[in-house]
Amino acid sequence: MPITNADLHCHSVVSDGTLTPEALAARAAANGVELWALTDHDEIGGQQRAAAAARENGMRYLTGTEISVTFAGETVHIVGLGFDPEDPRMLQGLTATRGGRGARAIEMSDQLAQVGIHGAYEGALKYVGNPELISRTHFARYLVEAGICKDTSEVFRRYLTDGKPGFVPHRWASLRDAVQWITQTGGAAVIAHPARYRFTPTEEYALFTEFKAHGGQGVEVVTGSHSAAEAVRYADTAREFGLAASRGSDFHSPDESHTDLGKLPPLPADLTPVWQLLADRIR
Ligand code: AMP
Ligand code: MN
Ligand code: MN
Ligand code: MN
Repeated sequence: MPITNADLHCHSVVSDGTLTPEALAARAAANGVELWALTDHDEIGGQQRAAAAARENGMRYLTGTEISVTFAGETVHIVGLGFDPEDPRMLQGLTATRGGRGARAIEMSDQLAQVGIHGAYEGALKYVGNPELISRTHFARYLVEAGICKDTSEVFRRYLTDGKPGFVPHRWASLRDAVQWITQTGGAAVIAHPARYRFTPTEEYALFTEFKAHGGQGVEVVTGSHSAAEAVRYADTAREFGLAASRGSDFHSPDESHTDLGKLPPLPADLTPVWQLLADRIR
């Protein structure tokens, strides 16, 4: 039986999600997911728990992560699937990528203090499940708790995006390194939610061209971050560049995410699902 309900993008408390790997697995299985991957940001500390929980819930599993990359001055996310989670090249690459987050968070907090929001670092830390992975999402949750904004989207809009008072520019991994950490360790690299980047057409073309040249194999077509029209558009991009297609909710939290695990439209039938390239990596 071919797999149709694959959800290959979500986050646990090991990065900026609010559920444990076990709770996510139970929720995915209850929603009919057949093949699952936990893709915490820059971190694979939840992989063993996720794989075990997938097995207990009767789902197949692919190892996963979502690597932060800087390309043409923008942050781009590259999802890795099916790599060997014990390979030192992946482990060292992710450790290095996580490295700057602590100092960045303190700088964010200092900037927020200058606009009258005090104690944001300590506040964000209350929401952090993994001391190596403090993210903007944790700040957003604290600013909502503190009554400064009504929801996390408003926090990002007013404080945490480029040009806003709590935004600290950051240099992440290179596209080439991230793709190679994934592919050299047996996995497939996938461009996450391409519609979210503010690239010119030329920059976007360069992203896909360089990604392919480095050995990248897939693009997210159906994701919680895309509208129906954006899915159509990136299905065309997948065809144009000869990329496989991925499907993932990008679920973070029952309170914050509007797309639940496994609750997505199917991939267009003519595209190659990325998990077909990873048949021998599925557990
Ligand atoms: P960071 O890796 O610390 O830069 O945080 C990035 C995370 O912030 C993303 O993975 C999303 O979970 C979250 N995020 C980014 N932009 C928004 C937004 N506009 N609204 C809500 N969450 C966002
Ligand atoms: Mn996130
Ligand atoms: Mn992302
Ligand atoms: Mn994500």
